[in-house]
Amino acid sequence: MHSPIVVALCWILAFLLFTLLPLLVLLIYPPPGERGFWVEFSVALGFIGLALMALQFALTARINRVEASYGIDLILQFHRYTSFVAFAMVLVHPLVLFWVQPDTIQLLNFPEAPWRARLAVLATLAFIMLIVTTVWRKQLKIPYEPWRLSHSILSVLAVGLGLGHAIGVGNYLGLFWKAVLWSAIALVALWLIVYVRLVKPWLMTKKTYLVEEVTPERGDVWTLALRPVGHEGFRFQPGQFSWITLNITPLSMREHPFSMSSSGEHSERLEFGIKAVGDFTSKIKDYKPGTKAYLDGPYGVFTSDRYEDSAGFVLIAGGIGITPLMSILVTAAERGDDRPYLLIYSSKTWEDITYREALDDLNERLDLTIVHVLREPADDWDGEKGYVDQDLLARYIPARRGTRHYFICAVPKMMDQVERALHDLKVPVTNVHMEHYDLA
Ligand SMILES: Cc1cc2nc3c(=O)[nH]c(=O)nc-3n(C[C@H](O)[C@H](O)[C@H](O)COP(=O)(O)OP(=O)(O)OC[C@H]3O[C@@H](n4cnc5c(N)ncnc54)[C@H](O)[C@@H]3O)c2cc1C
Repeated sequence: MHSPIVVALCWILAFLLFTLLPLLVLLIYPPPGERGFWVEFSVALGFIGLALMALQFALTARINRVEASYGIDLILQFHRYTSFVAFAMVLVHPLVLFWVQPDTIQLLNFPEAPWRARLAVLATLAFIMLIVTTVWRKQLKIPYEPWRLSHSILSVLAVGLGLGHAIGVGNYLGLFWKAVLWSAIALVALWLIVYVRLVKPWLMTKKTYLVEEVTPERGDVWTLALRPVGHEGFRFQPGQFSWITLNITPLSMREHPFSMSSSGEHSERLEFGIKAVGDFTSKIKDYKPGTKAYLDGPYGVFTSDRYEDSAGFVLIAGGIGITPLMSILVTAAERGDDRPYLLIYSSKTWEDITYREALDDLNERLDLTIVHVLREPADDWDGEKGYVDQDLLARYIPARRGTRHYFICAVPKMMDQVERALHDLKVPVTNVHMEHYDLA
């Protein structure tokens, strides 16, 4: 077994190597004739930009081993930033060429231009649409599902057309090894698409789950309980999540991520606490026992199991962010964990507190302190009220800040505020872990 840090570093190295591979080939097999520094610079930008674009397929393919090293939050952030870098390179690549060889601007004359140049123009347009619809998705009011479909189509177009352009230029200049390299990259990217869209969903159809029951919880939340049929389900670490497909085939790719809320010790019954917020989640209550379900999981690094030497845990939840923390607490109780747990839990009203009674039960079985924080308390409420801010945290978290690990799951605004407050309270950044529920 290699240490997680070594594995994570190896992935970074592999990423860098793949990104720079086209440049290495350019160095080993330089093009015939002297092209000058700026032309070479422009070509290098195009090469790295395209390799970075192709790598995005690997980043978003939910490859378990990569995911297990970093967690989905970090991978998606990395996906966003490296996509912007690739976009900048792809845009600057022709601009430099137009500047040092002004006659190449004629390649923008679409009807007259050769195919390799037309492919570049189309790839750039697809890339621009990809970025605009992603960065401004909410402002453009594009719902998540259509956005996800268009994101997949536009990315395949942008990378496919870009690779077509690179192979075309390689052939045109008689650069055999470069054409081979780009063709190999195109094939790997194609395999990743086939794997994600067809192979993985097809494998999921072999492992069916059935809805066992759907039960109402406080706070407009429903517990969906699933049971594996003809297989053992999967073991997970408390705090992890899976992608759920309900009542349709996984090949339709309409899946939603949810944290398991049940014990990591029981793979024969998996529970999810689902808050009704939109199209899919509002229909959970209508699913009948016996409905077919498919799971892709477990994923995520938001789990207390990674910190077995921690002296205890501080769990901070806002609303439905309680689900992974519930799993952490239920699992700890089942395992007879005697370390101290502190749960700071923000809800709207006393009646809205999801799992209120179940948490009281856990209080009996664990060294657990629960601090309810209500945003709209009744007049006779004498507990904490308002927001989870620095003053409130300072009153409850242990004086020796670095001895425990902190898990935060809430709406983005609350997570940002709590993260900043913990930082100001000198909690080491390596002890703070967060799970974001809004991926895009
Ligand atoms: C790691 C993770 C764990 C989560 N765990 C829970 C949980 O335990 N309980 C819970 O109630 N919610 C959880 N969520 C949020 C949940 O996935 C969304 O609320 C749900 O997908 C919304 O779908 P909808 O069609 O009902 O709502 P919509 O109105 O369509 O979407 C509301 C928002 O949810 C997100 N979303 C919608 N569809 C998807 C999708 N297919 N994939 C990813 N995000 C999507 C988008 O940000 C969107 O803006 C989790 C999210 C993540 C990323």
